[in-house]
Amino acid sequence: MRTSFALASFGLSLLLGNVASAQVTDADLAAAASDNSQWLSYGRDQGETRYSPLRQINDGNISDLGVAWTFDTGSFRGLEATPLVANGIMYATRPWSSVFAVNARTGALIWDYDPQVDRAQGYRACCDVVNRGVALYDDKVYVGTIDGRLIALNAQTGAVEWEVLTVDRSRPYTITGAPRIADGKVIIGNGGAELGARGYITAYDAMTGEEEWRFWVVPGNPADGFENPDVEFAATTWDGNWWEVGGGGNAWDSMIYDEEERLVYVGTGNGSPWSHEIRSNGVGDNLYLSSIVALHVDTGRVAWYYQTTPGDNWDYTAVQPLMLADIAINGVLRKVIMQAPKNGFFYVLDRVTGDLIYADPYAELNWATGVDLETGRPIETPHARYDTSVTMIMPGPSGAHNWHPMSYNPNTGLVYIPTLQGSVFPYAIMDEFQFVPEAWNLGIKFGTLEGEPVTPEFEYVGSTGPATRSPGALLAWDPVTRRPRWYHDYDFTINGGTLSTGGNLVFQGGADGVFRAFAADDGELLFEADLGVGIMAAPMTYELDGTQYVSVLAGWGGSSGLFGPNYDGAYKPQGRLWTFQLSGTEIVPVEGQPLPDLTAIPFDESPARLAEGADKYIQNCGLCHGADGASGGAIADLRYASEATYDNFHSIVREGAYTALGMPNLSATVSASDLDTIKNWILSQRAALMAQ
Ligand code: CA
Repeated sequence: MRTSFALASFGLSLLLGNVASAQVTDADLAAAASDNSQWLSYGRDQGETRYSPLRQINDGNISDLGVAWTFDTGSFRGLEATPLVANGIMYATRPWSSVFAVNARTGALIWDYDPQVDRAQGYRACCDVVNRGVALYDDKVYVGTIDGRLIALNAQTGAVEWEVLTVDRSRPYTITGAPRIADGKVIIGNGGAELGARGYITAYDAMTGEEEWRFWVVPGNPADGFENPDVEFAATTWDGNWWEVGGGGNAWDSMIYDEEERLVYVGTGNGSPWSHEIRSNGVGDNLYLSSIVALHVDTGRVAWYYQTTPGDNWDYTAVQPLMLADIAINGVLRKVIMQAPKNGFFYVLDRVTGDLIYADPYAELNWATGVDLETGRPIETPHARYDTSVTMIMPGPSGAHNWHPMSYNPNTGLVYIPTLQGSVFPYAIMDEFQFVPEAWNLGIKFGTLEGEPVTPEFEYVGSTGPATRSPGALLAWDPVTRRPRWYHDYDFTINGGTLSTGGNLVFQGGADGVFRAFAADDGELLFEADLGVGIMAAPMTYELDGTQYVSVLAGWGGSSGLFGPNYDGAYKPQGRLWTFQLSGTEIVPVEGQPLPDLTAIPFDESPARLAEGADKYIQNCGLCHGADGASGGAIADLRYASEATYDNFHSIVREGAYTALGMPNLSATVSASDLDTIKNWILSQRAALMAQ
């Protein structure tokens, strides 16, 4: 069946005369590590190490870095993509899953494609309507869209070649991750665990879009039968009626193909709901949540799995970037897979067998004291499985490392990890849980926890002692000695993806909008440039006509609502694709719009009403518009709204006046009186801001 289909499509290619035009082949992908002129896939090479041997820009001349060209994206929300370069064309994505191609020498636009996703579905994206980039194969560009489609575009023209719907739209699935190419297939996962979904990844024929296989991360309802024995086995590790909410496990980011082993490794997501007690009666490991799973590329069947967080209870996804390397451990060259998942341990596994080699804390944490290298299981601390009293657990749901890509430098032997060192969260199980489709179903108490019983704070463990680090830090981790080599501490949380090069450099941007370069070996800060807009995405590099370029997308959003910055004195700077070279032009930051002057608006100051408003705000608004009402700048900061906007709250929130902008109609969850109390609380935050 498959053979005949491939022949048919080959015949079609002959008719169209485009057989010779394939710009990215399997051989190109296999040789990507040594191809300095291009950057062909999300993590550059097959191991996704994000290391380039280029050294024209190096630790001796980095101070001479300037602008080669820039491209304004026209977007004001989060930019998370790693741009790809093939045959002199750069491909990248922006919010709402749009794709653009520019001349990699000049930044001149070649084509721009908007998949026209339904903006009203944007609320399903837990962490902004972001996209982390495209995949390239043959003469096609592949993108996953926020509304669940996988689309193949013509690399030269941007015209749609095929399109498939990869999700059941009756469930809140979203796609933000970059597709990957594996043995002629294009692979894509999805997000949506918190809203109630069953995670999976799917492989499609890269030429035709025909589905080849699907790996279900968690089992469905046993009464419906199991898709295959892997799912049947997983079901023995679950209890209760998990399928009603969905179970979660959504694999929304990391997938990596090992051509030698013919394995696809996938990092899987957290449980849905978060609470293990509510999800599975507190029983079982809940496979394949929070795991690294190796799948046979021909069938999608499980070769091995390693669960980093058995019985996940904390939103500890293992979707964080995976990386393959061959490194000497105790004098023996091992083929390893490495990951720094949310739970705070850095894992080194044998990628052929799945055996755990090492697991060591790379950040402060208190949910476990270590990982037993014999059993491979974490040694949990007594209060880690919190009950209804508030328990401060580290890391929190944002993890000690999130999606921001790490890189590896074979010259230093170090892995450069953008870490979130200050992540702590008050966990407490909800007294009464009820599944609400399309809402956040966490099974934990949210909002104001004042007056709730509290479990005494317990000790932190970790590679660096008690929890004294700054909120974010670039960590250079040595996977052989199992220790940090150096840190660069930040006074903010989100520090972006990293790139390492043969010039003894590590490049990284941050929430403060500054693009930096460090000496890869000792961490010395060698270069800083203010780009004027927060940076989350990973930089990349390529060489054309003898010139080395470094590119990065700068655009603030994502989970920024919760993390700031607030761009004091300015807001909403436009996203920009920056490309640098030696002796380029002066780096001039993007300008934000000035903040409006505020006028006082009276509100009801009674504490009970304000507390209720705070709770309702957190439940319904906080994720996008920011905890405490302070937006990170990507989405409207409601404290700065005009009086006319406040007057229009009812039509905006309960009648969907702004659905085209991505603001959902919340009439099902926010009553008219809820809205009054939310508005009252926002006005109190406005007054507090004016009093500063
Ligand atoms: Ca999650």
